[in-house]
Amino acid sequence: MKVLKFGGTSVGSAENINKVINILDQQSKNTNIAVVVSAVGGITDKLLEAANLACDKNEDYKQKYDVIWSIHNKVIEGLFENSENDSELQKHQDNLRELISEKLNELKSLLNGIYLINELSPQTKDKLLSFGEALSSTIIYHTLKARQIDAALKNSQEVIVTDSNFNNAIVNFEITNTNIQEFFSSNSNAIVLFPGFVSKSAHGEITTLGRGGSDYTAAIIAAAMDADELQIWTDVSGMYTTNPKLVKQASPIVELSYQEAVELSHFGAKVLYPPTVMPVLKKQIPIVIKNTMDPE
Ligand code: ADP
Ligand code: ASP
Ligand code: MG
Repeated sequence: MKVLKFGGTSVGSAENINKVINILDQQSKNTNIAVVVSAVGGITDKLLEAANLACDKNEDYKQKYDVIWSIHNKVIEGLFENSENDSELQKHQDNLRELISEKLNELKSLLNGIYLINELSPQTKDKLLSFGEALSSTIIYHTLKARQIDAALKNSQEVIVTDSNFNNAIVNFEITNTNIQEFFSSNSNAIVLFPGFVSKSAHGEITTLGRGGSDYTAAIIAAAMDADELQIWTDVSGMYTTNPKLVKQASPIVELSYQEAVELSHFGAKVLYPPTVMPVLKKQIPIVIKNTMDPE
């Protein structure tokens, strides 16, 4: 098995999600794959901004919500742009739009609640942040189904169990590993999709794994399943000597040790969320960092 994680930019537009689907289609021909997806690019920040405005009794939170709504609807529109003369595709699109509307209405109620009570606790924040990955994974899963690609969607909250340290929860690996192994022992889909970043406490509360935590979700699944490889698909072609978006002279590092990867990520190489390395290091699973926009 291989585990593939796609970050915010990779799932940030219909065009990029189509690239992701091509990669999944290719790779699932050779082996079973678990796929972890982030929220649509920028959505986690927008969710937080909306919640902070609501908490401050600033009605502008409604505009932020509208932006979140329109970004997701634009993605769906792009993914189903050729569905006009295809009644099957149209059915899939209608079904997806209904599911996304339900989730967005739930989000709206939560934001209204924050506005009314003037309060945003760490626990509520995690509930709110979980919407980003719930929306993106639902969109991608139903697009795969519409294109008749064999896939399942599994909510990571049903397998990744943590303590109640909201916003930065600590994983209980004993329970989590068993849950993941049990799930896969009775699953036969070529592709299983998981929302990144989200988890649940032993008491059933929604928790999250820290900003950038989808990388960690993928590493947790890879380690539990003794995967052959953990692929981190992002918007740059590997780990560089420094941030390639800021420094023209940055060059990609062909190969580095787990230790060096941890060090670089600790000192700000955001391309890899620091806790990601530990679970895969223990199993000596290689991490391969790939660019969704330049897969070769
Ligand atoms: P994703 O949304 O795919 O998780 P991130 O934004 O979290 O992507 O991480 C990728 C970004 O990390 C790159 O766009 C780049 O700007 C930044 N980055 C910072 N330092 C480095 C580095 N040394 N090597 C590669 N990328 C880096
Ligand atoms: N969506 C979350 C964040 O922006 C997790 C992730 O993308 O890795 O922090
Ligand atoms: Mg990231």
